Amino acid sequence: MKTSLMTVALLLATNGALAQDAINCGSCAEWNQPAKPFNIHGNTYYVGTAGLSAILVTSPQGHVLLDGALPQSAPLIQKNIESLGFRMKDVKLILNSHAHFDHAGGIAALQKASGATVAHSPHGAQVLRDGTPGTDDPQYDPKERAHIPKVAQVKEVADGETLSVGPLRFTVHYTPGHTPGGTTWTWQSCEAGRCLDMVYADSLTAVSTDGFYFTGGANYPDRSAAFRKTIDRVANLKCDIVIAAHPGFSDAFNKAAAKTAQSNPFIDPEGCRKLAAGAVKSFEARLQRERIEKAKAAGG
Ligand SMILES: [Zn+2]
Repeated sequence: MKTSLMTVALLLATNGALAQDAINCGSCAEWNQPAKPFNIHGNTYYVGTAGLSAILVTSPQGHVLLDGALPQSAPLIQKNIESLGFRMKDVKLILNSHAHFDHAGGIAALQKASGATVAHSPHGAQVLRDGTPGTDDPQYDPKERAHIPKVAQVKEVADGETLSVGPLRFTVHYTPGHTPGGTTWTWQSCEAGRCLDMVYADSLTAVSTDGFYFTGGANYPDRSAAFRKTIDRVANLKCDIVIAAHPGFSDAFNKAAAKTAQSNPFIDPEGCRKLAAGAVKSFEARLQRERIEKAKAAGG
């Protein structure tokens, strides 16, 4: 999310609880355009909207859903899951990349519709329970606080921990930077005997409100080393297929359009390294701008 472009507004409650929770931001209407669900590989499907990823991984013993997009995305995600022939009540576990309104906003409604367990890092779990990011979020804005529908029950998971639903195994990788509690998730999906390493990559963009520095400020530490470590961690994951929290970052729709029975453009063992290389470039440019701003402030 980008708070400077954002006006979080509670819409008038003209259409029940959902309309009340809907978030209006600069990109929200565009992000929330409906998208047709599609298969990525084996039991992994894209069920998100045009601009916000949601990923379904299925098994005969229950499914796992990654991310819930905006509050108003929840019915679109549910419709996509059902149009693929799966049932909401078979979604047993919901995982989150990071607890911003555009990736976690729909989780409360999706949890309600499915009865699934929601899991996140302890920091991310706290934000989901509070329904708003804390003062340690780079995009925290006291004048324009982002609110998401609160998630009452969130299981806290440790870095490296594996979560199971039937035969599915999901591993959590803490990826702090974009948010303090961000997480990247990995699992395996098999198709025709070919098992691939799947990565759902958390946002790696250094976005903040004005006046926040990833290189540290008067009363908070430098976070640049931790951010670099996160990007490096994503670069070095076992990775045959990477899907980013914003589908454009991993070119998901073009890949889906080009996919045939013979060739799957989602398969790219360099995908995580490419995503990380783009992130390093923007992050270093951001740090350079911070140094210039700080030098100006010190000199002026
Ligand atoms: Zn975000």
